[in-house]
Amino acid sequence: MLPDVATRPVPTVWAGHRTYASGALLVPASREQLASIVTSGTPVRTLGSRHSFTDLVDSPGVLVALDGLGEEPVLDADARTVTVPGSLTYGTLGPWLHERGFALAAMASLPHISVAGAVSTATHGSGDGATTLAGAVVALEIMGVDGEVRRVARGDAAFHGSVVALGALGPVLTVTLAVEPTYDVAQTVIDDVDLAAIVANLGAVHASASSVSVFTRWDGSASIWRKHRTDAAPMADLSGLGGRLADGPRHPIAGEDASSCTVQGGETGPWWARLPHFRIENRPSAGAELQSEHLVPQAVAGEAVAAAAQVLGRHRDLVLVSELRSMAADEHWLSSAHRRATVGIHTTWRQDVTAVTDVVAELEAALEPFEHRPHWGKVMATTDLARRYPRWDDAVALVHASDPAGVFAGPFTRRVGLTGA
Ligand SMILES: Cc1cc2nc3c(=O)[nH]c(=O)nc-3n(C[C@H](O)[C@H](O)[C@H](O)COP(=O)(O)OP(=O)(O)OC[C@H]3O[C@@H](n4cnc5c(N)ncnc54)[C@H](O)[C@@H]3O)c2cc1C
Repeated sequence: MLPDVATRPVPTVWAGHRTYASGALLVPASREQLASIVTSGTPVRTLGSRHSFTDLVDSPGVLVALDGLGEEPVLDADARTVTVPGSLTYGTLGPWLHERGFALAAMASLPHISVAGAVSTATHGSGDGATTLAGAVVALEIMGVDGEVRRVARGDAAFHGSVVALGALGPVLTVTLAVEPTYDVAQTVIDDVDLAAIVANLGAVHASASSVSVFTRWDGSASIWRKHRTDAAPMADLSGLGGRLADGPRHPIAGEDASSCTVQGGETGPWWARLPHFRIENRPSAGAELQSEHLVPQAVAGEAVAAAAQVLGRHRDLVLVSELRSMAADEHWLSSAHRRATVGIHTTWRQDVTAVTDVVAELEAALEPFEHRPHWGKVMATTDLARRYPRWDDAVALVHASDPAGVFAGPFTRRVGLTGA
């Protein structure tokens, strides 16, 4: 039987197009209350900051939110780690770390997401030298089906199966992240670059600065957003590709207010205020939208983007903007960058679920020769995922051993075969 703990109304996903399937949203005020929910016999899934687009979080039982646990970040300056509550957002963590002289190596496009929700889906920013956000994880505290909290750390046999785990191993109470001395970044935007020239030189474009995003609506031109660390060697010159420096602030989506974006124009500022595209105090992106992203090996990225362009160019009426980012390989079994340097082909879509799902299926067919991996938190058409991850069987075995009855399973994890049918 479920214990008597605080509840909130079951919300919609951040983008607003669907309400989570769940009997209730429980908000435990202590680890003991959370343990009594987890051991109640009711299926439980953990809600982060709601930024995934699909039924990934849905539960046939209840959802839990962990932001009522009242735990605080703990910095270990000597070990160069910070241990944070899983529900903490990067937007809160960034300035907190900076004030104490430390930084993360990477951030996603938005700081509004929770640390546990982001690493559970291999959320990433951009940068040839940066892994997904999961790559910064040093250890996790996870509550298992018996209500006991276990620490899994780098070097443990289960570590690389536990970080990107879609909530299927249980609620992640804390995440310990590697930190480094704080640093500054300057962001510049180049407009009106020839898209074909970028695609032909994609590796050089992504290698040209610490963090590079290419935005396009597949109309022949693109903008290049570069975020460069001031402690790195100067950015590489891209003037051979044409284009010109933006003459004012830009938003990735035409017509949206650029004041919601982080400072551009080459003005130096702390890492947490430049690496994301969007400011924590503003709504990121468009709001009523959908997103998809397919991750392909960097070695074939130019060809993959050219194949994707054929499909996306035919459906420009649905495309708000597409973005091409890069990331370094990591070892996490279900990471979209598992053992391969990767380029993400992302699209922000108008919010038409049926039409977008159809086009995403078409896009996936075009990307099939390039062994794409769909982003865990975004719209995907395929359920044929196992063969895309060399360590899939190990991930399934870990989940089954940890949770044989499927207490932490949901419709998404069952559909893709990570948890039992
Ligand atoms: C506007 C916008 C911009 C985005 N930009 C990027 C981007 O730049 N790069 C990128 O890669 N993705 C991006 N995304 C996708 C987003 O980062 C992922 O969907 C991410 O998982 C969202 O984190 P969340 O905290 O909202 O998690 P949720 O969507 O709430 O949950 C995601 C998964 O994490 C699990 N989970 C959450 N918290 C816990 C916990 N404490 N313990 C165990 N499991 C947990 C959930 O069960 C679920 O399986 C963007 C999404 C939006 C809406």
